[in-house]
Amino acid sequence: MHYPIANAPAPGTVTAVAPGVFWLRMPLPFVLNHINLWLLEDGDGWTIVDCGFATDEARGCWEQIFAQQLQGKPVKRVIVTHFHPDHIGLCNWLCEKHGVMPWMTKSEFLQAHNVLARGAGADRDSVRELMTAHGLDAPRLKWIDERENLYPRGVPGLPGAHRRLRDNESFAIGAHSWRVVVGHGHSPEHASLYCEALGLFIAGDMLLPRISTNVSVWPTEPEADPVGDFLASLTRYAALPPDTLVLPSHGLPFRGLHARVDALHEHHRTRLNSVTEACRTPQTAVDVLPVLFDRKFDDHHLLFAMGEAIAHLNYLMHRGSLRRTADRNGHYTFLRTEKV
Ligand SMILES: [Zn+2]
Repeated sequence: MHYPIANAPAPGTVTAVAPGVFWLRMPLPFVLNHINLWLLEDGDGWTIVDCGFATDEARGCWEQIFAQQLQGKPVKRVIVTHFHPDHIGLCNWLCEKHGVMPWMTKSEFLQAHNVLARGAGADRDSVRELMTAHGLDAPRLKWIDERENLYPRGVPGLPGAHRRLRDNESFAIGAHSWRVVVGHGHSPEHASLYCEALGLFIAGDMLLPRISTNVSVWPTEPEADPVGDFLASLTRYAALPPDTLVLPSHGLPFRGLHARVDALHEHHRTRLNSVTEACRTPQTAVDVLPVLFDRKFDDHHLLFAMGEAIAHLNYLMHRGSLRRTADRNGHYTFLRTEKV
């Protein structure tokens, strides 16, 4: 893999990555401390891709960019890759400010509203129920009740309407045509954008250079197979030309997407093999955490780690390599079958 631009832009400034395509970076109040956003020249205006987590600091970065980088032209369009708060956070603020609607897929739009309203699966009881079924005990569940819901902090509001993005649709941004490439496994209907003429792929969270994308099972769909969905999506990205410059939401822009796709396939294959091996005796999702991760988790990250553990177990269960059994309390264990 090759990183043609070694230095990320300072907050509030931009770096050109291709003619008319600019890279922005905004702070995040997490261990993962930044997100990349994209600003595209769009004829007599601009298109923004992703919005940033709602902090005063991020609003300040945007204000600085509006004052210094737009050459007096308006923002005509805001595109959102998916509903996670670092991506959609300031969407409402940006859309109100510029009098536009967000362009995003329907599932991401609806899921954002659902989570903000603490609707299906986004309430504490649903999370507790899923985690209990997969082996977390009472003391480790206590934090769920005490946990702050980060979503409204990062996403203080949402637009009531959207312009729907559909898989494979193409539209012009300025002089060039961009195609929507929908991916699954990380969020319900994640939109990436590909421009053949510029050789650019705005990957969102689906293809990151160093960290592996989180693929978790959540309470709304306990039988989901996000690992399978994610691996299938990777196969689609592998059809893009080898010299494509990938613009990821975290880390640096890179070339070498085939090497990255192969490494991610290998990463999940190794983890799936380790889980299968561990399940020679009955295992819960909690039991396989140390098989999948070589570190301990704080409460917030434990939720994502559990989601990933269940995701790997579900993948193997759906393919017949593991059999799931529930005890009389509804607690699941997974055991290896002959079919591996
Ligand atoms: Zn995400």
